[in-house]
Amino acid sequence: MKKHNFSAGPCILPQSVLKQASEAVENFNGLDLSLIEISHRSADFVAVMEKARKLVLELMNLEGKGYSVLFLQGGASLEFLMVPYNLMSIGGKAAYLDTGTWSSKAIKEARILGEVEIMASSKDSNYSYIPKDYVVPSGVDYVHCTSNNTIFGTQMKEFPKTEAPLICDMSSDIFSRELDFSRFDLIYAGAQKNMGPAGTTLVVVKDEILGKTGREIPSMLDYKVHISKDSMYNTPSVFAVYVSMLTLDWLKSLGGIKEIERRNVEKARLLYDEIDRNPLFRGAAATEDRSDMNVTFLLTDDSRKQEFDALCKAKGINGINGHRSVGGYRASIYNAMPLESVAVLVDIMKSL
Ligand SMILES: *Cc1c(COP(=O)(O)O)cnc(C)c1O
Repeated sequence: MKKHNFSAGPCILPQSVLKQASEAVENFNGLDLSLIEISHRSADFVAVMEKARKLVLELMNLEGKGYSVLFLQGGASLEFLMVPYNLMSIGGKAAYLDTGTWSSKAIKEARILGEVEIMASSKDSNYSYIPKDYVVPSGVDYVHCTSNNTIFGTQMKEFPKTEAPLICDMSSDIFSRELDFSRFDLIYAGAQKNMGPAGTTLVVVKDEILGKTGREIPSMLDYKVHISKDSMYNTPSVFAVYVSMLTLDWLKSLGGIKEIERRNVEKARLLYDEIDRNPLFRGAAATEDRSDMNVTFLLTDDSRKQEFDALCKAKGINGINGHRSVGGYRASIYNAMPLESVAVLVDIMKSL
């Protein structure tokens, strides 16, 4: 039997997608060739890329609203640099919200190219909450935030209000909940948390914000170059794009983001209710900022750790060790995680 995979990333994918993907690795579209050995410029692969792009815009309700969709490489980590390269004017300044490890890495890269104003930070309490009463400065080139803090288990419910372009790293909660995506000018996400396998990064960008910095941009870092080449300026990560496309198609067939959000809320509630009810556990993140994707929690009695870990192992629970910077446990319950797997974990917690 397959394990219950709570891994934070690369993460669980739908079984049906894994099956289709493995078939395509052997024989894609009945071509008697593998998906990963055909030209990325062949009609069969170009159709995959087009469908993936279309699904992104459809699911986000951004069709016809002036956005381009890119499937790049280098992970969300390269976007930390590409964003300032493309949006920070020479001698310019950007505002960042510091809500965790990934935000701070984004800030570090931005500082290579300009000035960064940190609007607020929750570092003082090991990023256990999302700062709220901050002032968004005016006159900045853009404002950057991280919608879900994978390591700490916090999730933004409100986003900065600003006239400047709003940029969001949505790596670990992309397509998990309904948002007005048109409020954002650029969204990026490494595929491997909630959209597909590792190897491609989704970028959704409003065309009108690009080309304004006067900065010379190396081709591979230039969004406009990638847009003009339909994400095929160089060889795209064909397998990762294909599996992401299948996963988005799976999401659409379920009923889209609205339906997956309903399921995600149900899974998260089941787990948080047990964390709050059971005196042996406590949540690591501030209650009002809890993430529906990464549930971080701690044992209140460390002498029970061995017993809990052994039960988890016996029941096929995989990947719930907390990140070293929080300790305890982290159950990542991304889109493809079934409610039944969460119930297995909750039953173990109840039995303790
Ligand atoms: C995992 C993660 C990243 C880094 O993604 P890579 O694709 O490995 O570079 C960035 N931001 C967030 C929120 C993440 O969860």
